[in-house]
Amino acid sequence: MRLSKYSVSTRKELPKEAEIPSHQVMLRAGLIRQHAAGVYSILPMGWKILRNIMKLVREEMDAIGCYEFFLPAISPRELWVKSGRWETFGNDMFRLKDRKGREMCLAPTHEEVFTEIAANNIHSYRGMPQMWYQIQTKFRDEVRPRSGVLRVRQFLMKDAYSFDADPKGLDESYRLQREAYLKIFKRTGLEVKVVKASSGSMGGRDCEEFMVLSDSGDDEIVNCSSCGYAANQEVAESRVEKVSKGQSDLKKVHTPEKRTIDEVSQFLGVEASKLIKSLIYVCNEGNVFVLVRGDHQVDEGKLAAVIGECRPAEPSEVKELTGAGIGYVSPIGIDNITIIADPCLEGTSGLVAGANEDNYHFTGVDINRDLKIDRFTLLRAVQPGQQCIQCGKLLKVSRAIEVGHIFKLGTRYSEALGANFLDENGSSKPIIMGSYGIGIERIMACAVETYFNDSSMVWPREITPFLVEILPLNMTHKQSADIASNLYNTLNQEGISVLLDDRDDRAGVKFKDADLFGSPIYVVIGERNLKEGCVELRVRDRDSIEKVEVDSIESRVLEAIGK
Ligand code: ATP
Ligand code: MG
Repeated sequence: MRLSKYSVSTRKELPKEAEIPSHQVMLRAGLIRQHAAGVYSILPMGWKILRNIMKLVREEMDAIGCYEFFLPAISPRELWVKSGRWETFGNDMFRLKDRKGREMCLAPTHEEVFTEIAANNIHSYRGMPQMWYQIQTKFRDEVRPRSGVLRVRQFLMKDAYSFDADPKGLDESYRLQREAYLKIFKRTGLEVKVVKASSGSMGGRDCEEFMVLSDSGDDEIVNCSSCGYAANQEVAESRVEKVSKGQSDLKKVHTPEKRTIDEVSQFLGVEASKLIKSLIYVCNEGNVFVLVRGDHQVDEGKLAAVIGECRPAEPSEVKELTGAGIGYVSPIGIDNITIIADPCLEGTSGLVAGANEDNYHFTGVDINRDLKIDRFTLLRAVQPGQQCIQCGKLLKVSRAIEVGHIFKLGTRYSEALGANFLDENGSSKPIIMGSYGIGIERIMACAVETYFNDSSMVWPREITPFLVEILPLNMTHKQSADIASNLYNTLNQEGISVLLDDRDDRAGVKFKDADLFGSPIYVVIGERNLKEGCVELRVRDRDSIEKVEVDSIESRVLEAIGK
């Protein structure tokens, strides 16, 4: 590409609408353009990157014998009613009607459609294993589209599905996909952590997510560097340390204006771990008291897995239910309400809890005696420094971006859609399925999060829009312009992606833009070096800068590329 003939310009200033580095860089470099919340155009340089990503994803899928399909983005309501997801997808699903009033959706994922195809095509155990995939546009009306293309409402996904006759077959298909994913992420230059995850509305048994560590991520992951335990916060466990038992008679004490855990703990001279944090959530079934230890936090992902979609109660709702303001409430003495508690509270006593009266708390609370807990279930967020569930060593907690997610689905979709096969004994059974997704734009955004440093980008070689950028620093200097143009032509003939900055701009401008475009190799053509018959070769991903004679620049570039 000749920059003089390309009309998408870079942006000098920091885009105000972008909070995270990848979003800023992609806007400034002219890779993407936003039209509405979570709706973006991908511009030519961005599209080159996405095409590179899709190319290598295809190569790795093809290499494990996965066949490529192309399914429609629109799908009929009936399919989703059968699986139950017409309901459960809720507002995340874009819905529409055709001219005859038939309801359809813009598919947020394709389990249903692929399962229908399997139902029509796989009839016997002899036809399996099968693995199918596609790269298609998905539509999700996300609650909070943000962070550039990390969370958008229309995005490209590679989604693959496996079909097996028995659980062992599923394990093998899952293993093949998992290995292929690790190769894909290695080739895209991303360092991923594979973590245990929650299957959410997808259903099924095990699932794992592929995570890129980044402060810009929406997810939190917990990991142990000692034994390798790694899990999404939504399912992460830590060892239960119970607080010791204490004073046992229930007493109401005056705690004027002391609402927060810190205030109450300081005022009463009691450690935060001996307080009960009582929160009220509103879910479809009504109000639920959610209890964790005072020094712990409720993880809303874990909570949603137990009580479904929910929200914290408003102060007025809290008052109506308990008679007290936030900070003074607990389920003690409140009838007919569901109470769930974190296992760290099981069997403990000598605790402090709200007395359901403003400015008062109870001391001497005994969990077994004073409360009727409906269920003890994991609700706390694992905090750094807590002990690993497997080995007891200290856990780390980091922010991360999910780039891929693989599921052992089992028979949920095949049963719902009647995808059955005949086994060796001639009896009919539901096909055992797996589902495997990768976000194409998210890979691009994660690469920027990883490889943009000190105001310059260096793209990983397999996905870079251009391997080489040629920078003639003064286009009015004929010799510079000629050398640049010749090198551009010969490298193009070699099939190498090259960007030539042949604009009549100052060197400073060219370098600034080049650092946004992020080619791993620069050839800088300047008058001073040319006086010695040289140009400068910068192999940026190897931190190498050297002067190279004009005659050997082409071969040295090829060498740097490994051709
Ligand atoms: P998240 O938890 O981030 O919403 P998800 O669990 O809903 O992701 P999956 O349904 O497993 O995602 O989709 C597979 C992959 O598609 C994800 O790993 C991610 O890379 C990508 N993806 C999902 N939602 C979006 C989105 N709104 N924008 C961009 N990519 C997405
Ligand atoms: Mg999602």
